[in-house]
Amino acid sequence: MLNLSFFMPTKVIHSDQGVSKHQEEFSKLGKRALIVTGKHSAALSGALDDVMSVLKTAGIAFDHFDQVENNPSLANVEEGSRMARQFLPDFIIAIGGGSPLDAAKAIAALAVNPISAAQLYEGELGNPLPIIAIPTTAGTGSEVTPYSVLTIPEEQTKKGFGSPALFPKVAFLDQRYLRSVPQAVMLDTAVDAFSHLVEGYLSTTANSASDLLALEGMRIWGQSLTKLSHGQIDDNTRNNLLIASTLGGMTISHTGTTIVHALGYPLTYYHNIPHGQANGYLLGEYLKLASTVEPDKVKAVLNTVNLSTLDEFTELFRKLFPNRVSLSKEQLESYAAKTLKTKNVAKSLGNIDQQVLEEILKGSI
Ligand code: NAP
Ligand code: FE
Repeated sequence: MLNLSFFMPTKVIHSDQGVSKHQEEFSKLGKRALIVTGKHSAALSGALDDVMSVLKTAGIAFDHFDQVENNPSLANVEEGSRMARQFLPDFIIAIGGGSPLDAAKAIAALAVNPISAAQLYEGELGNPLPIIAIPTTAGTGSEVTPYSVLTIPEEQTKKGFGSPALFPKVAFLDQRYLRSVPQAVMLDTAVDAFSHLVEGYLSTTANSASDLLALEGMRIWGQSLTKLSHGQIDDNTRNNLLIASTLGGMTISHTGTTIVHALGYPLTYYHNIPHGQANGYLLGEYLKLASTVEPDKVKAVLNTVNLSTLDEFTELFRKLFPNRVSLSKEQLESYAAKTLKTKNVAKSLGNIDQQVLEEILKGSI
């Protein structure tokens, strides 16, 4: 039976210079802000300057944690939370790709809860500090999701936690902040966005609202594919990819992700494959599995990228990411076993067991 459950509490402000035009969104949240960023991208993108000048004009005091790593670890967000617990901000401003945005969510929760980062996975997070999110990549959609994905060295993988309280209060979409993104990062992140849209659309948890978001996101993404694959990114393409990415975030806020993401995490953890690229390896095999359950929906996905067969789809992603990894039998078994324990399995289409996961992984590398 059709279902239309829907929840999206983030105010999305989509405009060039939106940050400078909307000082009130910052003032509303208090008098002290902690800015959370990676080492370079916030400044490179121009977003940091815009934010700091708004804060100065508004008389908002701020401190800056600029040490977020790619694929942030528990220890990394604890470092940021020590700064937050000392500075006592009223709110957090996250600028960057998914790594700083996700780290900011963890820091927002740790700032007001006397818990360790590992305990973020144990449930109630109280009232995390409010977050303003400013994406500088078009990939994760983290600016509109309640999720944060952290690296857990003890479990040798990455894992997400989430709470509706972690949805950012405001997301500023400004394609100008993506002009400095290198082509390789543009491609990796764009494929992450597409993966969210596809996985959300081909999920056991999809509903009419998430399908609407996913289809429109895939359509817009598909229109950008030629320019993306030729490295001809103009402002319009960047803007389209940013919209597709945010629609992807809205989609997975309702559906979560599938085994594509879960199988991709060990590839990132052990083999340093960028997150979006890891998803790109796996999408073709997942589509094959999903087509046994939802052939019409899989056809609709193929349509959005102007393709008619699954083989063409696999070929497309082989061309986008020609360098794959080689995995031993033990590695295949171990990554499949890790994936089998995740919640993503129940959200994926098709009958999934250890052997199916091993085959998908084998066919993807
Ligand atoms: P990222 O790890 O945030 O950034 C990748 C690289 O791009 C970094 O070196 C970063 O530099 C650089 N960069 C970012 N913006 C730039 C810009 N405008 N100009 C120049 N360089 C720029 O990449 P991401 O793919 O956006 O995020 C990946 C993370 O998000 C992963 O941990 C993934 O698991 C997570 N994720 C979260 C969700 C969710 O729902 N929350 C969904 C999917 C994935 P700096 O280091 O200087 O910042
Ligand atoms: Fe992702």
